[in-house]
Amino acid sequence: MAKKEKIPRQPMPEQEAKVRARNFDEVPTGQSPETAMKEAERCLQCKKPACVEGCPVGVDIPGFIGLVKDGKFTEAISKIWEKNSLPAVCGRVCPQELQCEGVCIVGKKDQPVAIGNLERFVADYERKNRLAPTPEKAPATGKKVAVVGSGPSGLTVAADMILKGHEVTLFEAFHKPGGVLVYGIPEFRLPKEIVFSEVDGLSALGVDVQCNSVVGRTVSLDELFEQGYDAIYLGVGAGLPTFLNVPGENLIGIMSANEYLTRSNLMKAYRFPEYDTPIIRGKKVITLGGGNVAMDSARTALRLGADESIIVYRRSKTELPARAAEVHHAEEEGVQFHFLTAPTKFIGDEKGRVIAMEGLKMELGEPDDSGRRRPVPIEGSEFTIDCDLVIIAVGAGANPLLTQSTEGLDLNKWGYINADLETGKTSLRGVWAGGDIVTGAATVILAMGAGRAAADSMHDYLTRGW
Ligand code: FAD
Ligand code: SF4
Repeated sequence: MAKKEKIPRQPMPEQEAKVRARNFDEVPTGQSPETAMKEAERCLQCKKPACVEGCPVGVDIPGFIGLVKDGKFTEAISKIWEKNSLPAVCGRVCPQELQCEGVCIVGKKDQPVAIGNLERFVADYERKNRLAPTPEKAPATGKKVAVVGSGPSGLTVAADMILKGHEVTLFEAFHKPGGVLVYGIPEFRLPKEIVFSEVDGLSALGVDVQCNSVVGRTVSLDELFEQGYDAIYLGVGAGLPTFLNVPGENLIGIMSANEYLTRSNLMKAYRFPEYDTPIIRGKKVITLGGGNVAMDSARTALRLGADESIIVYRRSKTELPARAAEVHHAEEEGVQFHFLTAPTKFIGDEKGRVIAMEGLKMELGEPDDSGRRRPVPIEGSEFTIDCDLVIIAVGAGANPLLTQSTEGLDLNKWGYINADLETGKTSLRGVWAGGDIVTGAATVILAMGAGRAAADSMHDYLTRGW
């Protein structure tokens, strides 16, 4: 056992920081079968694996790692698929340091087993080689299911319900499916080809994917029931941008991260000159916020040609909510961090374009409702930073389009759907909901977990009643 712990954590090969900060290719380039098998040897195959408890969907982590160790990559992917239908995505974007790897026993004395990297390796190996048997569909039930929203929660419900034998239509408002995985998370972190390959897999199983369909506008829930759908899942996400309400915020050159990233990712500004989507290419860019969205925006700004990309965050480094790997990558690429700093005003030129941000230094006071120490302004600490683009990445709210046009759908005071957290059932008979539209902006794996729970409950309803 001691021998096992001596193998060092196998590093993930990456593009060199200076080079990658100017291109949109994926940053980590992936492990080889040899290094994956070596990493898998570090797992102690615990009898009571803490990592499984730490995984929100309960993947049999020692089970799949044991198979990787023996070079059985195809069996390993089948093992992961038992609990997680999007491992290539989760291996790349889950906050493993707070979940499985955060509690891995090896991590008590050494670096934890690289569970996320191994999950990614197995999923990529299968995508390249296509050796695993396609999951079998249960016999047709004759029931029809509508899934609204094609983010990770909607994709999970669509996959589970088609395999349970129901007919499934997936409605997506945008012209491409994938939700935040496609319009939010940039190519250098999650190549779109991976998400589209998952959606192609669903289509191959028989899911009817209908893009450009804004449910609540082009068709209502009542009309879907009239069209013969027996059950509806709402996975419409929390994509409504939040602003700061600071003077000058409507100057030209200040925009939400949602708009900035959507223009770059979904509308392909990142592939200029092939696509000529308008986007402001700032030279000195300030991003406000400290989560994954802020890291993605600041790193995108560098890749779109910024000389300086600065993150302004009102708490300290310890409180940054972004994944540790993203913060590390952003630092390596040259993103500057101004901690304990908050904006008070934006200043424009005579044409109404932003040219500077005024702010105040902060110190940390008592913990607030979130348990994090509240930032308190320091008197007399005013400062000004020049800038020509400001990206606001301070959170997002519930997508209101469908929820507000659907009578009888119970919402909480922030506009999120009140749904049973165990089953996803809403106040409307035959309607389930899950993911960010229920919990508020959260994570991919939690949205998937909610989708799986709702799919089980919907299947019960369709086969046994409400
Ligand atoms: P979404 O992914 O938001 O999908 C909802 C879909 O519903 C969208 O495609 C939307 O167009 C569609 N829709 C909305 N209204 C309608 C309608 N009326 N009719 C039809 N379709 C509709 N999480 C992590 O775990 N790790 C990360 O590294 C990470 N990075 C992130 C980076 C960014 C930039 C962002 C924005 C989020 C990030 N997250 C990350 C959070 C994560 O992406 C979300 O928690 C997750 O995508 C939520 O999934 P969802 O299925 O609930 O909703
Ligand atoms: Fe392996 Fe770590 Fe999980 Fe134990 S906790 S089974 S060592 S990955």
